[in-house]
Amino acid sequence: MNRSSSDINARADTPLPGTTPAIPRRAAATFAASLSFENVERRYGDTLALDDVSLSIAPGEVVCLLGPSGCGKTTLLRIAAGIERPTSGRVLINEQEVAGPNRFVPPEERSVGLMFQDFALFPHLSIIDNVAFGLKALPRREAEREARSMLTRVGLAHLSDAYPHILSGGQQQRVALARAMVPRPAVLLMDEPFSGLDVQLRDSMQEETLALLRETRATAVIVTHHPEEAMRLADRIAVLRRGRIVQTGSAEDLYDHPAELFVARLFSEINEIAYRARAGVIETPFGSVPAPGIADGETAILGLRERGIRVKDAGQGLPGRILHTKFLGDIALLEIGVQGFDAPLRVRSPEGRTRPKGSEVGIEVDMSRALVFPGAAEV
Ligand code: ATP
Repeated sequence: MNRSSSDINARADTPLPGTTPAIPRRAAATFAASLSFENVERRYGDTLALDDVSLSIAPGEVVCLLGPSGCGKTTLLRIAAGIERPTSGRVLINEQEVAGPNRFVPPEERSVGLMFQDFALFPHLSIIDNVAFGLKALPRREAEREARSMLTRVGLAHLSDAYPHILSGGQQQRVALARAMVPRPAVLLMDEPFSGLDVQLRDSMQEETLALLRETRATAVIVTHHPEEAMRLADRIAVLRRGRIVQTGSAEDLYDHPAELFVARLFSEINEIAYRARAGVIETPFGSVPAPGIADGETAILGLRERGIRVKDAGQGLPGRILHTKFLGDIALLEIGVQGFDAPLRVRSPEGRTRPKGSEVGIEVDMSRALVFPGAAEV
């Protein structure tokens, strides 16, 4: 999603002094910037935290870095911020090198905003002063006006004079968001910004944050462990594993066309069944499935999504028997012994509740959506 950096919004919606707008004002916009990593490597002694990472983020784009603990997400963010230096490679903001062999621009000169997991507010400062903290360059009255306006935007203007300790976790998080956004950084870097929140609060904060990012047109990089969060927030997701980007794309790209079994596993629960490829196909109980690029005799892993398996009445599809069922609310998790498969298939199905243990069923799968990966790469 590309937005023009010239598309800025003048502060025409500033209310008259002493008045409060009836509805939250829209946040004023910033100049979005591009952010690029070129062949970035970061070593800590023998640990290769980032291995040849290249990623270009367009102005106004929201990119999530997704991957398991220790894969290098935070290190990449810290390098973008200027808190860490790359061992080699370059970082560019708006095509200007900010870290590289010949140049290092300190964090305060990069026009980046940071919001970290612990988002610590200053306990001795009021909420408004916490938010105005990053606006030291502005005259005090103006900084306060900007901070109040941002607090209104996140629904907390009425707490401007309170101190952080009386705020709930969600309110503190909103203040941290306001504090990060109020200087209108060209690039906003967020490290697991919603991790401390309960599920409902997380949903509403995600919506709020996304709305604010869209309004301010900031370029954003958000670190998360949660695939669903990445899918909700990101224009593009970069999946990291052991310091490398294994795939970058939209949520749909990654879900429909995962480059590796590792990526497929992030986005859905799958049954994994090993076969030997012959003449570019594998022979499964549901018929033959293309296994492109996998040599004769090599192992291929068939991936069948647990939600992609349909449970029908006996007589349709392949015969099966329900071996185990677990109620999970909207869906049931079933284990089904299916003719032709050595191990039971796991199925997540809304029809599960009407299929008790022991019942005979029919099993259907849309094999055009089956996934096939080389076996060796993952072992
Ligand atoms: P998490 O999701 O748990 O925060 P992450 O994906 O953000 O993990 P990083 O914090 O970037 O991972 O760490 C990547 C690797 O670099 C890890 O192996 C980590 O132990 C190592 N590492 C990070 N910072 C340092 C450091 N200052 N000194 C030594 N090793 C470090």
